[in-house]
Amino acid sequence: MGMYPPGTTIRTLTCSYCNIEQPPRAKHCHDCDKCVLQFDHHCVWLGTCIGQGNHCRFWWYILEETVLCLWTGFLYITFLKADIARAWWKVGLVILLLIILSISLIFLFLLLVFHSYLIMTNQTTFELVRRRRIPYLRGVAGRVHPFSDGVCRNIFRFCCERSGMYRLEPLPTAQELEEKSRPYTCSDCVTCRCC
Ligand SMILES: [Zn+2]
Ligand SMILES: [Zn+2]
Repeated sequence: MGMYPPGTTIRTLTCSYCNIEQPPRAKHCHDCDKCVLQFDHHCVWLGTCIGQGNHCRFWWYILEETVLCLWTGFLYITFLKADIARAWWKVGLVILLLIILSISLIFLFLLLVFHSYLIMTNQTTFELVRRRRIPYLRGVAGRVHPFSDGVCRNIFRFCCERSGMYRLEPLPTAQELEEKSRPYTCSDCVTCRCC
């Protein structure tokens, strides 16, 4: 935690590849050969990193793919149910495609739910998976999300705060962490603490 003074965006660690000071939540991607702010993961399908600059677009991309799969599945089922004569191999091919599509749809839907959860709690895949190995998250209780400002504010920031400038998030102070780790009570529902 010494490298990360709480309440600041300073990190006294220089990336040995880019030769720049890495702010908190940044990670060097060896595939892209650059440091990525709010690094989520390197997507091999898209051939780029998912980070602060494009995570929102990535979420919309998954949603679009999910809707596309649903629509294609609907068309396949309509084809199978249609009362017209067709070759057996055409029916077999459509059934096979429908099975592949269903598997893809399950994967996409789970990915969409997973990334929605990350957005609502202001986390990244990297932070979730490597929580115990990331210095600024080490020692923080598993149920505490240090960068979360409540579900509504997290979603608003994620979707609307895009001014072209990258946002450096300060690390929470010990007091803020203590506040965030406090269990929820009935009065918290009234004051919308979780929002
Ligand atoms: Zn770097
Ligand atoms: Zn990358």
